[in-house]
Amino acid sequence: MNQSSSRSQQPGVIADKTHTASTGHGSTDNVDAHERDQFAALASTWWDTEGPMRPLHDLNPARLEYVMSNAVLPGQAVLDVGCGGGILAESMARQGAQVDAIDIADDLLDVARLHALETAIKVDYRHATVEQFAATAPASMAVVTCMEMLEHVPDPQAVVAACAAIVRPGGKLFFSTLNRHPLAFALGIVAAEYVLGLLPRGTHRYERFIKPSELAGWCRQAGLQVCDISALHYNPLTRHASVGGRPLINYVLHAVKPGSIKPLQ
Ligand code: SAH
Repeated sequence: MNQSSSRSQQPGVIADKTHTASTGHGSTDNVDAHERDQFAALASTWWDTEGPMRPLHDLNPARLEYVMSNAVLPGQAVLDVGCGGGILAESMARQGAQVDAIDIADDLLDVARLHALETAIKVDYRHATVEQFAATAPASMAVVTCMEMLEHVPDPQAVVAACAAIVRPGGKLFFSTLNRHPLAFALGIVAAEYVLGLLPRGTHRYERFIKPSELAGWCRQAGLQVCDISALHYNPLTRHASVGGRPLINYVLHAVKPGSIKPLQ
């Protein structure tokens, strides 16, 4: 567990309990039950592009393009970790990837399965934590994506390590999360949740945000090479998202597992 003792506090944020495994919110098995239930409550509106998940819909083209510009998707085994209702998972399957997707919220998995049926997209949705998946299918995937999920778990470093175990040598990993930077507090929480009402209040907790240096360190400790860290910009007024520049608020990280990829049997 990577704990920094020097994390600065932000106005309105009580103690720095950053990334401690016990959250006081009913967490077991690296799952925060309170966070899971908050997301599950949004199941019925997950695919409403004008609803509470609108930012995820708006971000998706940019993050999909980022994945596609750094990894081959058609025909490849891809795992989407913390898939929610399947916005990213479906979009990768539409590009020809063989997508497995895991989450711990049953209501969201039901919505994801129903939506995939309606749109005739094949994604294998399963209820599992990434640690459980890693134990049963190590080195099984060419690509692992884990977007907007790390900031919702008690021990994100363990998630990174499990993702690293799941990807095959030569495989690619993509993470996105929010930086623990004052701008992210101002825009990602105060503006997005309280001023603009883009996200339901309580969606994000500042102390759970992750500095790019921390995420990069966890990747390296898991034996990964970090290839790129870039901002994932989002303008809620134009609803346009793009990748590039300094990772002050939302950001994406691309890493590779050293080794040469072997074709699956
Ligand atoms: N990755 C999706 C959804 C992000 S919302 C996207 O970007 O479109 C965060 C998701 O993480 C929720 O669906 C929540 O249920 C899931 N989640 C939270 N903790 C988890 C855990 N420990 N294991 C797997 N999924 C988890």
